[in-house]
Amino acid sequence: MKRCLFFLSLIIVVSLSASAQTRTYELDDSHFHLTNYIQEGTNIQDFLKIMGDKVGRVALFGIPLQQQWSYRVDGNNAPKYYLNTDAPLYYYSFTDAWIAMAYKSLTKEQQARFDPMITGFNPTDMYAADHIRRVLQTFPGVFSGIGEFSIHKEFVSAKIAGEVASLQDPALDKIFDFTAEVGLVSILHNDMDVPFSKEGSAPAYLDQMKAMLKRHPNATIIWAHTGMGRIVRPVKSHAATVEEMLKDPALKNVYFDISWDEVAKYLVATPEATKITADLINRYPDRFLFGTDEVAPATQQSYLKVYYQYDPLWALLSKDAVAKVRKGNYERIFDQARLKVRAWEKSHIAGTAAAAAAR
Ligand SMILES: [Zn+2]
Repeated sequence: MKRCLFFLSLIIVVSLSASAQTRTYELDDSHFHLTNYIQEGTNIQDFLKIMGDKVGRVALFGIPLQQQWSYRVDGNNAPKYYLNTDAPLYYYSFTDAWIAMAYKSLTKEQQARFDPMITGFNPTDMYAADHIRRVLQTFPGVFSGIGEFSIHKEFVSAKIAGEVASLQDPALDKIFDFTAEVGLVSILHNDMDVPFSKEGSAPAYLDQMKAMLKRHPNATIIWAHTGMGRIVRPVKSHAATVEEMLKDPALKNVYFDISWDEVAKYLVATPEATKITADLINRYPDRFLFGTDEVAPATQQSYLKVYYQYDPLWALLSKDAVAKVRKGNYERIFDQARLKVRAWEKSHIAGTAAAAAAR
């Protein structure tokens, strides 16, 4: 009993010091791409300077897709973005090693500010979960979750070489079974609707998304951008649709991020839109996370553009909601993931060379 109390107080002290560590920062970023669609990006030391004394912790990932430079299609015009070309994209697993090595190059104190995520898997492949397991085994002590990865994403899904991803794919169920087992957080991009949908029609992927989420009640899943895209606009009464999900006890494992300037563009488009968004977040302050969705930024100003874009929203949120959306929810969700994933690694890869390397 005495021993239990000792460990309990130790845990309290450790978690207190973890939260103290970010107390002076203004925000955490739950959605950040260090590298871009051609796997180039910001040096992590430079990025620490960009975070400065503003951003405490960051969910860190690359992009799971590589834009192919097809000379046949583009000649000497090397494409940098998926909208630059008709050439396909393909899954680029090396991104996970790249992110892990960037993280491992940091001091322990610097590492504490990042939650690296695994993204380099093909979500239509029944072997995808094995890739995630292999990354954990190769880089124990590093990752907190998976994503951002995409199922339906305007302009992108159809251009990926191989089979088109689907919310109804057993390969995806296998991935979430595994994240639930390990305690990994997932960040999933899935457009709620198709582009240019008919006014008044039901959002194309909403029912499939809900059914998939309900199949995985023990997986912690962040629905990126609340299901919006660049031209996949908020569905009619988007807030009501999201609220219906927030109310559903079968979806209590689901969170929403408000990352991406394209999303902010809609959420603070008018005073009415801002008010509707703020009212919803104020009613469910534990379920939303701020994220930038910036890709390989060069300056703090460009990195935090979307944060300032949300100024009208911040002004309408309660004190409690602001604190939770900017930092509190991030820290609760990712601290829990860190503990669970480290425990899983300990019991599943003990005795291996990888485990020794982590000590
Ligand atoms: Zn996204």
